[in-house]
Amino acid sequence: MSGTGEPSVDSSSVESSSAAPATTVTPILKVTGLRAGYGPIEVLHGLDFTVGTGEIVVILGANGAGKTTTMRCVSGLIERHGSIMFEGREIVGARPDAVLRSGISQVPQGRGTFTDLTVHDNMLAGAYTVKGSRDADLGYWYETFPRLAERKDQKAGSLSGGEQQMLAIARAMMNQPKLLLCDEPSLGLAPIITQELFRILGRLRNELGMSLLIVEQNAGLSLALADRAYVLETGTIVATGTGAELLGDDTIKEAYLGVVS
Ligand code: ATP
Repeated sequence: MSGTGEPSVDSSSVESSSAAPATTVTPILKVTGLRAGYGPIEVLHGLDFTVGTGEIVVILGANGAGKTTTMRCVSGLIERHGSIMFEGREIVGARPDAVLRSGISQVPQGRGTFTDLTVHDNMLAGAYTVKGSRDADLGYWYETFPRLAERKDQKAGSLSGGEQQMLAIARAMMNQPKLLLCDEPSLGLAPIITQELFRILGRLRNELGMSLLIVEQNAGLSLALADRAYVLETGTIVATGTGAELLGDDTIKEAYLGVVS
């Protein structure tokens, strides 16, 4: 891994790190010198990171590192400075609705489903920017998440935590994004449900070619899934590498997996 704020593969192309031979992919998201905060307090101190097309990139960080703030910056929810290039276009000043329409959907921390609406109405709400029939997409996502299909007339608030997280992902995908942002998808879920969820996120990449940016503090599962990852500490990127490289790194093992070497 490289231990600087400068990503080792932040150029006009990035390397995929799967077990298959490395392929060169085009960046769908390129963030440079990102700064943001709340009032007078700066929380992100100039982040540089890239997501390649069809890649899963994880930003790993402890509580308060700035993971949610980073997601809010990309989705346009807070004022931010620097550069956020999405498909070659600058979106650092774009409003959240424009970011959504450009093809970036977010699964917020805590899921953000409409608890008083049914599963089905939540799905339809996710597709509000999509023109034309949504039937094919509904069919696809109900097939992918059969538990949601079984519960489509049930209020979202009555679903289990894992089911709500699946609904949040399916709802975000109903917007037909090109980049999916997931804010701590494992939060509050049992390990077995988290495993299922991460398998589904892997399928989005492998079967649909989706690009995903995931922020997490669950290092074990997220780094196993990631093509590349960055480590965020108090608003600064301190390391980057492939998921496998970081998973094998003693500092990461100690800090995030509780393994004493
Ligand atoms: P967690 O894993 O606990 O959600 P995080 O890595 O997502 O943490 P952020 O939520 O981005 O971290 O918070 C980064 C810093 O910004 C923290 O010090 C937090 O207290 C502060 N912060 C976050 N949201 C606000 C806000 N709305 N107003 C003021 N400060 C905030």
